[in-house]
Formats: sequence, C-alpha cells, structure tokens
Amino acid sequence: MRFPGRRINVIDILVVDDDAGARKSFGNILKLKGYGVETAGTGQEAISKIKEKFFNIVFLDIRLPDISGLEVLKTISDFNEDIVTIMVTAYASIDSSIDAINKDAYSYITKPVNMDQVLQVIGKALEKQRLAMENKRLLKELKEANEKLREMDARKSDFVANVSHEFKNPLAVIKQSLTIVLEGMAGEINPKQKEILEAGQRNIERLIRLVMDLLDLSKIESGKIEMKRDKIDITSLVDQLLKDYENEISRKNLVLNKDIQPDMGMVWADKDKLTEVIINLLNNAIKYTNKGSVTVKLSGTEDEIRFEVADTGPGIKKEYLEKIFDKFERILAERQEGTGLGLSIAKDIVRLHKGNIWVESEPGKGSKFIFTLPRDLRRS
Ligand code: ADP
Repeated sequence: MRFPGRRINVIDILVVDDDAGARKSFGNILKLKGYGVETAGTGQEAISKIKEKFFNIVFLDIRLPDISGLEVLKTISDFNEDIVTIMVTAYASIDSSIDAINKDAYSYITKPVNMDQVLQVIGKALEKQRLAMENKRLLKELKEANEKLREMDARKSDFVANVSHEFKNPLAVIKQSLTIVLEGMAGEINPKQKEILEAGQRNIERLIRLVMDLLDLSKIESGKIEMKRDKIDITSLVDQLLKDYENEISRKNLVLNKDIQPDMGMVWADKDKLTEVIINLLNNAIKYTNKGSVTVKLSGTEDEIRFEVADTGPGIKKEYLEKIFDKFERILAERQEGTGLGLSIAKDIVRLHKGNIWVESEPGKGSKFIFTLPRDLRRS
C-alpha cells in the first residue's frame, strides 16, 4: 500500500496506549532514538491514524478504553499486512498477548517497558518487515514477468500456427508437381533426373512433416486442438500401422516382434491423433535402432489399454528420460534427422486422452516407450 505522505528512510512508529503519561514518555524515548513517532489514546484514534499514513511499527496496548487491542490488531492487519504490530501488556495479561501473537501480532513487550528490550524487538521487527516487503515485491515482479512470458508465448504460438499454415499449401503443390514429373506425366525423365527429383520429394516430405508437427504443437499449446472421439478397434489400427513399416524394418535388417493380446476390444479415442502417437513411437524405435529388434506389445484391462514399443537401440541416459518429452529436446540429434517435437506432441495427445506416457531405458539396453489410455474417456 502506498501513502502520499510516506517519508523515505524514516521509520514511523505509532504508540497506542490509554495512559497519557506512559504514551508520552515512551514516545519521547523513541523520538530521541531517531524514529518518527505518533501516539493514540484509543483504539478508534489508532485506526484512523493507520488509515491516514503508513507506520512501520505499532506498539499496541492490549487494554484500551473503547475497543479491545485484539480488535484493533485485526483491523490493522486487514488494512495493511506490512505493518508490524507489537503488543504491550501488563504481566497479568501475558496470555492475551500470546493469543495476539497467534493471530497477527509480531511480538509483545511487558510493562513497565524495558528500553533495551524495545530497541531489540524494533530491530528484529524491521528486519522481518524488510524481508516480507522485499519478498512481496519480488513475487509481484515474478508474476508480472510470468504474465508477460505467457503473452509472448501465446503470440509465438499464433505466429507459428500462421506461418505453418501458410507453408502447407505451397509445399503440397510442390510435392504434387514433383510427383507428376516423376511419374512421367509431363514427359519422360532419365534416371539421373529421377534420382534428383526423388531426393527433392523426400525432402519436401520431411518439410511437410515438420510443418504438420509445428501446426499440431501450436494448436495444442493454444488449446485450439479439437478431439474427435470415436470407438476404435485398437488391434486393427496397430496391425495396419505395423504393415506400413514392414519395408523399412526389413531394409534396416531389424526383426519385428508382435505381442498382441487377443480380444483387445475397443477404445474411445481420436483416431488420427492416436495414430500420430503410435507412428511417432514406431518411427523413433526404428530410426534410433541399427541392429536387433523392435517389439510391439498391446495389452489391456477392462479400464485401460497399454501400448509398448521396445527397441534394442542405444538407450537413453537417466538424466534425459523426462527431458525427451519436452519440445525441441534431442539427445541423439547429430545422428538422425528429426525436430525434437514428436515426443512432446505424443505426450500432449496422450494427456488430452487422460492417459500416461513414459519411457523406460538404460544406455546400452534399448528403450521401451509405453502409453496407457483409459478405455472410455467419458468415464474418467
Ligand atoms: P526427434 O526424433 O525428431 O528428435 P522426438 O521428440 O521424437 O524428436 O524424440 C526426442 C529425442 O528423444 C530424440 O532426439 C532422441 O534423442 C530421443 N529418443 C526418442 N526415441 C528414442 C529411442 N527409441 N531410442 C533412443 N532415443 C530416443
């Protein structure tokens, strides 16, 4: 809270006591010590002074003629929690002071006041106040910075979404044009030309995949992704996808093992998105494995399905196991093409289905990526 009359570097103290003599002498000693001091003889007077200007510290007598010190204490802390209140009490009412500390008072001193004790408590109270106010200021700054980052992040996602969208059509046209020429529809081409055009086609496909990944990611990040849930026969979906990989698996001399539980049944999911997750995991398993096998396991219970793809590739160090699900995180980047977006998108899609995805891996022992999905999203 800011007060127009607040003076820089002056510590202001309010002394609240109904005994005019005690109030005055206590106040005078504090003034001599260099503090700005004001006094109040009743609870109401104290409250109106507090509303007029900021006091670093309030010495508050627990017994006042109009309202109780505890009530004044509550009003002070409700009004401005930065004010430090120290209760002043006779020995007879120490219990109420402890009560006050359990509420919002910082400490208490007993009457007759011992100035050494008072100065010590002021020192500690000011330090506590300084730290609390500094913390508040830092928290405010952090919140503002966070808000700014969030805005920038949203603008970045919009920008990525727009640019990717603009890329999509021209890329599709280039791909189609290359296909037309490659298939000889625009006249015969020689083997050398074919080779060059095929390299172009592979790279266009790579670019299209990247653009689609960026589009997906920006849609997920902006919450604009739509889920089209359907009943899916998961066994036939996995079988179909594995067929598409047969050539690549045999080209790399890998063995494909299938361990699919019979009667897997149906799952409610967005087919295209679920396909994307499975393709991502299969792609990675094949891409990062140079010898050995890729094993796909599908199992389920009444409540969930579980998909696993295990490979005999290089494995992943423990410190990267969580990180690889982050955007643009690539551990073996130098060796393989990729964007570092696949697993991040897979994680988001699985989460949109209220499922879980994780990896179990050790360097030299291959990797196993697993995801589970509730069978019926509507029940989870
Ligand atoms: P990309 O494959 O395009 O780099 P991903 O998000 O799919 O991006 O994967 C992130 C990183 O996780 C990869 O760069 C790779 O380092 C690691 N990774 C993913 N799958 C495997 C795997 N089966 N074996 C070893 N490392 C993997």
